[in-house]
Amino acid sequence: MNVLIVEDEQTLSREIGIYLAKENFTCDIARTKREASEKIYVNNYDFILLDLGLPDGDGLSLIEEAKNAEKEASFIVLTARGATGDKIAGLNLGADDYLAKPFSLPELHSRMQAITRRRHGLKKNTISFYGLVMDIQNRTVSCGDKEVALTKKEFDILHYLLLNKNRVLTRLQLTEHIWGNILEDDYDSNYMDVHIKNLRKKLSAFAETDWLETVRGIGYKVTLK
Ligand code: CA
Repeated sequence: MNVLIVEDEQTLSREIGIYLAKENFTCDIARTKREASEKIYVNNYDFILLDLGLPDGDGLSLIEEAKNAEKEASFIVLTARGATGDKIAGLNLGADDYLAKPFSLPELHSRMQAITRRRHGLKKNTISFYGLVMDIQNRTVSCGDKEVALTKKEFDILHYLLLNKNRVLTRLQLTEHIWGNILEDDYDSNYMDVHIKNLRKKLSAFAETDWLETVRGIGYKVTLK
């Protein structure tokens, strides 16, 4: 998943970036409100971690801006300790959660996972589908006691498709969420097709894969009741 870290303290933004990269997130960093605003407008993030005290103003209006632009990103507001007003203002504007500084990175990660579950109506960290089980925490897909050997990218692609079940995702949307922001000119749609093909091949050793559909000229869709 794709994250924008809006934070002017460079040590902190770097630490968050390194930690989340290890947890398989793709991160962008913005140090000013203006930089963040541009990135939010151009890209599609799954998460925006938002520090409010930015050199060129209060970050709160970015939440409204993103919502007005119909961006789907979930916001976590990073507040100074005891800044109750900021928490309330952030939540009222539609932020999904807040964390008071200093916070632990594992806590940030588990809050992000909780938001993902909430957003996609999951009650736990596993998704069952057609005789297979995806364990989101441990990043495995298994069939009974056998594990399907997926690469990191294959896991991420399948995870994202499952979260967005019954909805057609374009190749570009899917690519952005897995590889981060790319320039449309550099974008090679065959790349995703190859990954999907490999994914189908690996899964088909364990289950039927007709639920993983290619929508001609558009992208992919997972059908799941
Ligand atoms: Ca700050």
